[in-house]
Amino acid sequence: MARTDAIVLGAGFIGTSIAIHLVKRGLSVALIDRRGPGEETSYGNTGIIEGNTFFPHPFPSGLSALVRLLLKRDSAANFHWSFLPRIAPWLLAYRANTSLAGRLAFAEAMRPLYAQSLAEHETLMAESGAAKYLRKTGWLKIYRSNGAFERAQREFEYASRFGLAFRPMDVAATQALEPSLKPAFRHAVHWPEAASVSNPRAVVQAYAARFTQLGGVMLNGDARSLHRNGANWRVDTDSGALDAKEAVVALGPWAPDLLGSLGIRLPMAFKRGYHMHYRAEGNAALARPIVDAENGYCLTPMEQGIRLTTGAEFAARDAAPTPVQLAQVLPKAKELFALGAAAESKPWLGSRPCFADSRPVIGRAPGQAGLWLAIGHAHWGVTLGPVTGRLIAEMMTGATPFCDPAPYRAERFS
Ligand SMILES: Cc1cc2nc3c(=O)[nH]c(=O)nc-3n(C[C@H](O)[C@H](O)[C@H](O)COP(=O)(O)OP(=O)(O)OC[C@H]3O[C@@H](n4cnc5c(N)ncnc54)[C@H](O)[C@@H]3O)c2cc1C
Repeated sequence: MARTDAIVLGAGFIGTSIAIHLVKRGLSVALIDRRGPGEETSYGNTGIIEGNTFFPHPFPSGLSALVRLLLKRDSAANFHWSFLPRIAPWLLAYRANTSLAGRLAFAEAMRPLYAQSLAEHETLMAESGAAKYLRKTGWLKIYRSNGAFERAQREFEYASRFGLAFRPMDVAATQALEPSLKPAFRHAVHWPEAASVSNPRAVVQAYAARFTQLGGVMLNGDARSLHRNGANWRVDTDSGALDAKEAVVALGPWAPDLLGSLGIRLPMAFKRGYHMHYRAEGNAALARPIVDAENGYCLTPMEQGIRLTTGAEFAARDAAPTPVQLAQVLPKAKELFALGAAAESKPWLGSRPCFADSRPVIGRAPGQAGLWLAIGHAHWGVTLGPVTGRLIAEMMTGATPFCDPAPYRAERFS
């Protein structure tokens, strides 16, 4: 039986970043996963490091938007009818949180994390050799109709208020930036301060390699075996039982599987999302992610091909895949970019772990000494990995946190 200062459960963007930050602060750390680093949600995402995020994704407002959603005509969202009664209370809370006041509260609470997110990635990338995956080219949101662009004006107003850079562009200016985009849109907005990565899994793997280079240990094991052993936490791994005074739960969408058994119930829901890679036809290429505002999908150039990612699907986390949104958006995506053959036979499915206020939980677990939580990073776990790692490591080692962690406390749900 071995002992270490801290056990980090889950080797996605969040857990791997935490493990590096802890080991850098002099702790002996074991990072535990049942798979390799970055194999799950941290693999299949859109790869955007969103320095410009200031509002959560809105709940559809107005009757016609709601009807479109219920008739499954809005490709940005899908749901399983049988799951609606279970998710309804969460959806109502989410709706309340995306009122204008709720969105502004989110913006205030989250700005310190977003403002620091790219800088924290760059630090880890420089030391782990992952800078080659970083593109500091921003991302583009395209609007097909004047109406959609008009409706986004308020968003731009708040972006200015928060000091965020953005550049509205016409079709010609957009094509100067992205020559392969077809003119299926009327307006675009370039968010230059965002960045993206060309292979999210490879970035996590580079961070994990840096962690072991600094003396950390990676082990395979089932996080659900975590239990109290006197004053310590014990987890079973393929190399035997491991004890530590402190344990961090960074299990992304699987956090409830462990927390439930420890009596910690947090209202996490899952926004499932799909991706497929496609070859680009001829010489067509993209230099940055492109979001189609009205159709709710994104095209991102990845090492594996052009990755088409979908919006949210509300269904049980482990329900069988129903990739109807991919089928809905593929013709729309082809209007915009010369997508060729699919690079794989079936789509990837993952789950964004979300709380109704769209904020993560970063901090102590309620009622369990020595247990820490870093979960619920929703649409922004790639973005927020390293900054979460820094914040929680500062809290765990008694350093002054670089920002006030109060908005991310688990107790806000009690
Ligand atoms: C379609 C899609 C697009 C997205 N696009 C973006 C984007 O552009 N930008 C952005 O910032 N975010 C994006 N996200 C969100 C982001 O991917 C997630 O928030 C993030 O990956 C969560 O990271 P994590 O480390 O918390 O979870 P994960 O990456 O899922 O890591 C959890 C780890 O826990 C391990 N695990 C689970 N159960 C056990 C167990 N019992 N025992 C041991 N190990 C276990 C898993 O194997 C996994 O490695 C997107 C998500 C989706 C689905």
